[in-house]
Amino acid sequence: MRTATYSIPMPLRFRGIERREGMLLQGPAGWAEFSPFLDYDDAESMPWLRAALDSARQPWPDPLRSHVPVNCTVPAVTPDVARGIVERSGCRTAKVKVAEPGQQLDDDRARVEAVREALGPHGHVRVDANGGWSLDEAERAVQVLDAAVGLEYVEQPCASVEDLAALRRRVDVLVAADESIRRADDPYRVRELGAADVAVLKVQPLGGVHACLHIAEQIELPVVVSSAVESSVGLAAGVALAAALPELPHACGLATTSLLRTDVVARPLVPVDGALPTGRAEVDPAALESCAADGPTSARWRERLARVSTLLEAGDA
Ligand SMILES: [Mg+2]
Repeated sequence: MRTATYSIPMPLRFRGIERREGMLLQGPAGWAEFSPFLDYDDAESMPWLRAALDSARQPWPDPLRSHVPVNCTVPAVTPDVARGIVERSGCRTAKVKVAEPGQQLDDDRARVEAVREALGPHGHVRVDANGGWSLDEAERAVQVLDAAVGLEYVEQPCASVEDLAALRRRVDVLVAADESIRRADDPYRVRELGAADVAVLKVQPLGGVHACLHIAEQIELPVVVSSAVESSVGLAAGVALAAALPELPHACGLATTSLLRTDVVARPLVPVDGALPTGRAEVDPAALESCAADGPTSARWRERLARVSTLLEAGDA
């Protein structure tokens, strides 16, 4: 299988990193992406490789829609910056980061109010706490933010599945589970405990487009497909999953090309009128050349690929 390694600078620090690195694999079905974050060990990278091999070898399921509505993402920035991000995006749904360490609930409220102003009354405002609140903090924050702007849902308000379940019984706002599915030993505990109203699924950490479709069927919750901040090759797999879901009541978190300075395709997957088109992303030789990783980085990724492949084969044997 043909491979290439990219290393792309990020305009803003995200997850503590300033560059996004990953590999592209070309198989009979097309290009696929293998880009587990650098702090993930080989075992945690296994589903990411399963996802890449699935996309490289197998056609994606037939799309049920030609376009997938997406949200813009607003980091823990000032209200003015937040307003600008929403206005430039053209999206009708915004996901706003809250519960940032070092910030207060007043900061979150000012930010979501600016976002609501920019979206207008018919847009959707969702917040993502990345598990940053205790149960009591979450109850209070959700009430304050919902009273201020009306929330579409709150994503991963608390870290544990048990707290998500308890919060769901205390507030009327919908609760979405992200880390509780993606980094859990058992993604279905969310369903068993009645811990969420919405399931956030990410293609690479959950083992691929087909594996995610299976989870979506089994988990019996509306699904929001989100990215792992991939190049357009990885994002296209997320769009393929979202396009194949029987129902898609919420916008997806796939408009993340703005977090990367360059891309490996000629026309990056940037939303138009708040939506992304379905279809395979074609790696462009000139674009790839402009973001190709240097020799040592490429060698490191080839070694990583080899180690994780060995683990996968041992598991399948
Ligand atoms: Mg999230």
